[in-house]
Amino acid sequence: MHKYDKDRALVDRQILTDRQGEVMDRPGRVGDKSFYIESYGCQMNFADSEIVASILADIGYSATASMDSADLILINTCSIREKAEDTVRKRLRIFDKAKRRRPGTLVGVLGCMAERLKKKFLEEERLVDMVVGPDAYRDLPALLASAEEGQKGINVLLSREETYADVAPVRLNSNGVSAFISIMRGCDNMCSFCVVPFTRGRERSRDPYSVIAEASQLYEQGYKEVTLLGQNVDSYQWSHEESGESVNFARLLGLVADIGPDLRVRFSTSHPKDITDEVLHTIAAYRNICDYIHLPVQSGSSRILSRMNRTYDREWYMERVESIYRIIPDCAISSDIITGFCGETEEEHRETLSMVEWAGYTMSYMFYYSERPGTLAARKYEDDVDLATKKRRLAEVIDLQRTVSHQHNLRDVGKTMEILLEGRSKKSDRHWKGRNSQNKIVIMPMMDGYAIGDYVDVKISDTTSATLLGDIIQKSQYSS
Ligand code: SF4
Repeated sequence: MHKYDKDRALVDRQILTDRQGEVMDRPGRVGDKSFYIESYGCQMNFADSEIVASILADIGYSATASMDSADLILINTCSIREKAEDTVRKRLRIFDKAKRRRPGTLVGVLGCMAERLKKKFLEEERLVDMVVGPDAYRDLPALLASAEEGQKGINVLLSREETYADVAPVRLNSNGVSAFISIMRGCDNMCSFCVVPFTRGRERSRDPYSVIAEASQLYEQGYKEVTLLGQNVDSYQWSHEESGESVNFARLLGLVADIGPDLRVRFSTSHPKDITDEVLHTIAAYRNICDYIHLPVQSGSSRILSRMNRTYDREWYMERVESIYRIIPDCAISSDIITGFCGETEEEHRETLSMVEWAGYTMSYMFYYSERPGTLAARKYEDDVDLATKKRRLAEVIDLQRTVSHQHNLRDVGKTMEILLEGRSKKSDRHWKGRNSQNKIVIMPMMDGYAIGDYVDVKISDTTSATLLGDIIQKSQYSS
């Protein structure tokens, strides 16, 4: 065991640690080369960076937090909005300076922007040595070997099979308590505003037994929470060619929850057209499957939902929300919302506002429409809502969501709830941060006799629109 050495830590503190933060060596996997990685975008991208770290560890690369001491600089990119791509270009300017300071340093671009731009990236960005798409990370060792010979490399082939099921992720940015597990890749939906089907390819579900093995290993290592990841987890469907055994999302949830009563199970992202009552009843049947569902609505207007090709309308969505609250009364729902989509009228904007109020979301990711090249919307519709209107509508949705979140939190004041201690509060090192089953952040004063990873019963005394405040009463029945 080493003394914790910050220079070996990845940006975002993403190194292999146990709960005490001690660095753990993977026997025979740490070599004399180092890589520095920055990850952007969705949880899938952060989970992919852990796959990349594992593939690199197998060829002797270990992680560093210092860009200036790295042999390899990587950026795992997002392409969901123009702003996300602007961020990548700004980071490349910084990497360029690092490369000039340390000639021989290699630079690689990974993820959705790499997949969207392909070889254009090599043409536009001279400092880039490798462009690697989300399904081509196994090719990194070969691309690196060529790049070390001065040969720039690219692999942006999308796959219909690749799930990296046999690659044991290197846990990055880990608090030793919660971890992501990707259960599927790609997306078969074709929402008209979205680049994901073009950057991550067709849907494929991972072997459930490799998911269970990964979750069991985490549980044995002391992790207390896993989040099952997919662009649309509700369409998870795996079947065994010979035995004909098939596993859908509801069954997979149950199989993971059976690993241990004190292993919390979360998942993201759900799709309103595919979420079934079977999934809802499975959540209700397991105390350790969290009462929280992220259910993107995108718009409250059926006409706009049809233009977005979301394949459900306002009524269908509301029926799903009613079913969630009927089957799991304490469930919290969060959402994704886009304002100012092509052709959106003021009246349709008000339908989105009324949906936020009616659904009672605990929080939402809210953005104004950003046209993405190559998408159905970019080809079919004029981006005709002016920027000022997009921003004004976004501000109105954010304001309303803040009020709705606060009302939801106010109903929790006075309650006692089970919290999983995850780490220190960002704002005070004399306070802990944790979350309840509804995925709400709770801040409480530190107390002796408790530690990160404990389940504790907390009495909620106050709240803001984003955070609950409370005091630890005792260890909960599930605390080890
Ligand atoms: S469900 Fe729609 S928005 Fe989500 S990743 Fe798939 S295409 Fe994109």
